[in-house]
Amino acid sequence: MASERTGAEVVLLMGPPGAGKGTQAAKLAGTRALRKLSTGDMLRSHVAKGTDLGRKAEGIMRAGELVPDDLIIAMVESELAAMKPVRVLLDGFPRTPGQAAALDELLRAQGVALTAAVALEVEEDELVRRLSGRAAEEGRSDDSEDVVRNRMDVYRRQTQPLIDYYGEQGKLHRIDGMGSVDEVSARIDEVLP
Ligand code: ADP
Repeated sequence: MASERTGAEVVLLMGPPGAGKGTQAAKLAGTRALRKLSTGDMLRSHVAKGTDLGRKAEGIMRAGELVPDDLIIAMVESELAAMKPVRVLLDGFPRTPGQAAALDELLRAQGVALTAAVALEVEEDELVRRLSGRAAEEGRSDDSEDVVRNRMDVYRRQTQPLIDYYGEQGKLHRIDGMGSVDEVSARIDEVLP
């Protein structure tokens, strides 16, 4: 089924911290003319602006824990509700079974089906190497070694199960996330409808 690039399209980008979601999300949003919604970026912007949500999220993010589902879902819902048609690339959402159920409900309410879930797979040694490089370059407050370890644990416990959830729906594409940015994005382009 060829995508017309004008109708509804909803692509999820999943993967552990350091898998390259943010980088691939930016590229993919460009090539497929999708609006990129990154819950991590949205939260960091709330923190920077000192909004109510930012004040609630700041300490949680610094510890590498997940911001409560109700806050995240409300944030995404207000963005999706304003989109007509819904053409979106979701980066870092959903991250829990509750968020996945809420997304299903939001899409159903708008009469839109999920296009694809892309899971980036990267070996753990490489994840750690990338994140320590990023810590040195960008100084993100949640990239210190112990917090990275916690984010990986949180990913394994809360987010990894979603990969099976989308697999059972026949929407999952597992992508080898090792290699250059262009190699990985070419693999993603190949599998998307
Ligand atoms: P990474 O995938 O490398 O952990 P993100 O930028 O996606 O980076 O997320 C950074 C932090 O923001 C997470 O550790 C978490 O605290 C918070 N966050 C982002 N997205 C969500 C979400 N969907 N649900 C709960 N917390 C989130």
